[in-house]
Amino acid sequence: MEDIAKSAGNTTGAEAAETRGHFIWQFIEGDVSRGLNGGAVVTRFPPEPNGYLHIGHAKAICIDFGMAAEFGGECHLRMDDTNPSKEDEDYVRSIKEDVRWLGFDWGDGFFYASDLFDELHAFACELIKRGQAYVCDLSQEEWKKYRGIPTEPGTPSPYRSRTPDENLALFEQMRLGAFAEGSCCLRAKIDMASPNIHFRDPVIYRIMEEPHYRTGSKWRIYPMYDFAHPFEDAREGVTHSLCTLEFEVHRPLYDWVIDRMAECGLLVKRGDAIVRPQQREFARLSLDYTVMSKRKLLQLVQEGRVSGWDDPRMPTISGLRRRGYPAESIRDFCEKIGVSKYKSATELSLLESCVRDTLNRTALRRMGVLNPLKVIIDNFPEDAEDSFDAVNNPEDEAAGTRPVPFSRELWIERDDFMETPPPKFFRLAPGREVRLRYACLFTCTSVEKDADGNITAVHGTWDPASRGGNAPDGRKVKGTIHWVSAKHAVPVKARLYDRLFTVPDPEADETKPFTEFLNPDSLRETTALCEPSVAALAPGDRIQLERLGYFAADTSDSAPGAPVLNRTVTLKDSWSKAAQTPPSTK
Ligand code: ATP
Ligand code: MG
Repeated sequence: MEDIAKSAGNTTGAEAAETRGHFIWQFIEGDVSRGLNGGAVVTRFPPEPNGYLHIGHAKAICIDFGMAAEFGGECHLRMDDTNPSKEDEDYVRSIKEDVRWLGFDWGDGFFYASDLFDELHAFACELIKRGQAYVCDLSQEEWKKYRGIPTEPGTPSPYRSRTPDENLALFEQMRLGAFAEGSCCLRAKIDMASPNIHFRDPVIYRIMEEPHYRTGSKWRIYPMYDFAHPFEDAREGVTHSLCTLEFEVHRPLYDWVIDRMAECGLLVKRGDAIVRPQQREFARLSLDYTVMSKRKLLQLVQEGRVSGWDDPRMPTISGLRRRGYPAESIRDFCEKIGVSKYKSATELSLLESCVRDTLNRTALRRMGVLNPLKVIIDNFPEDAEDSFDAVNNPEDEAAGTRPVPFSRELWIERDDFMETPPPKFFRLAPGREVRLRYACLFTCTSVEKDADGNITAVHGTWDPASRGGNAPDGRKVKGTIHWVSAKHAVPVKARLYDRLFTVPDPEADETKPFTEFLNPDSLRETTALCEPSVAALAPGDRIQLERLGYFAADTSDSAPGAPVLNRTVTLKDSWSKAAQTPPSTK
């Protein structure tokens, strides 16, 4: 432990607050140094397999697996599948894939809560025998009324005084399907006067007719989350059960279940030490311009608002992956947002800047044109060709160079030309010389227009002495623009994304459905005219199209020789006004 304490001492104040020194780290560190639970640290990430994981889950995953790694412990992956109605094997598959892709390893620690249904049922029977649980026939409405409000004691259920034998018999009938859904439930007998509403005889088992994706129709009764979760934690030997803030008020109930398990001898041992899990809570991540609840994400999928859970506009891990976000950037983002108890909306631009950081270091540069304008080099022979070496990644010398073909007709970006340029426009204009990236200096001499006066082509001359990019006389040009040789250009389908919603918080106005704020322009499909090497991209490959942004070859829709490019992120924060037009390279 000394090592950890020492390295924590070495971090600066700000860093310590954000990373290892955060309150959960301190809490675990305190337990470990006291030798609690035999000094072990076991955490878990417990998603319910009722949807795909999203970026909020990534935060929890990084904390759960991160804390285990920090203290040399282990982190389990558990399917919290106690509610049959919306769970599915495909969700289990996607959850495993996403956690692995994020870079985490649960080793042997993969569990299903549903594997504990027998044990949970036996424990519930034990509580009944001990007079700590009873079958209650109040309807849900009545139950709520009896439970009351936090500031006044609740009213005990008329069924509260049933005897253990009576309760056991009724519970058995519930199990066998004698009663209809909602007609009765099993409640823990705790304290109807507690100021904590969750302590007022909470429901711990309910009847559900729906078959479970793993246990089929074996069960007609299912344990409630508050009852099942601490039980699963304890049976797996979890020491630190980390979750989001909304569970803070449930913590006394969590501890109550653990206490009852201790009385029944159900806590597991680690060496000589009995492992007693403890719950701690941190603020959930919310990101602007998106929604994060699985229910709402499912709605977007079911209503066809997006192409699926892994639509690149979705905040799901699979969507971000398909969009081209590197796992490393997501981990980096989770580290940057830190761990605290303060609820706040994190800006999407922070996530994007983490993505740019990684891709700037790793993505190969390529040239492509999204909005083409023809350039004709009048002093370049009609059938001649040339080739220039272009740097693959200025951040990584080992990435080398590649040849890019050049010919008399090129495509440039329409925005890079203006017939009457305003001051500070340093790119191409009549009479002006610019650098064609990696190739040469080029001067515009005239334009061609159609009958409506639209510019259809730009004419000019190149300076053969500037072959490679610079003139021997050292004269300076202010603008550098990218280009693609027209006869070599490969048309590639490109998808340009905007935010999924038009407002920062689509859920803020409760009088309107959140779908009303969907951005109708969140996806624009176009064709990029690219240098030939782009055709060879394999699904998942990531590149930077110079000055246009980072792109990833789509993993579902790309075909050999015909990648479909998803724009992962623009090169600059495109939400800031200054970056609305491609920047001129000075
Ligand atoms: P949702 O509201 O999206 O349905 P959930 O909490 O119901 O989320 P679970 O599958 O139960 O989804 O979540 C698994 C774990 O992930 C829980 O421990 C939960 O606290 C955590 N988690 C869920 N959403 C977030 C979030 N936005 N930020 C941080 N952690 C989250
Ligand atoms: Mg949940």
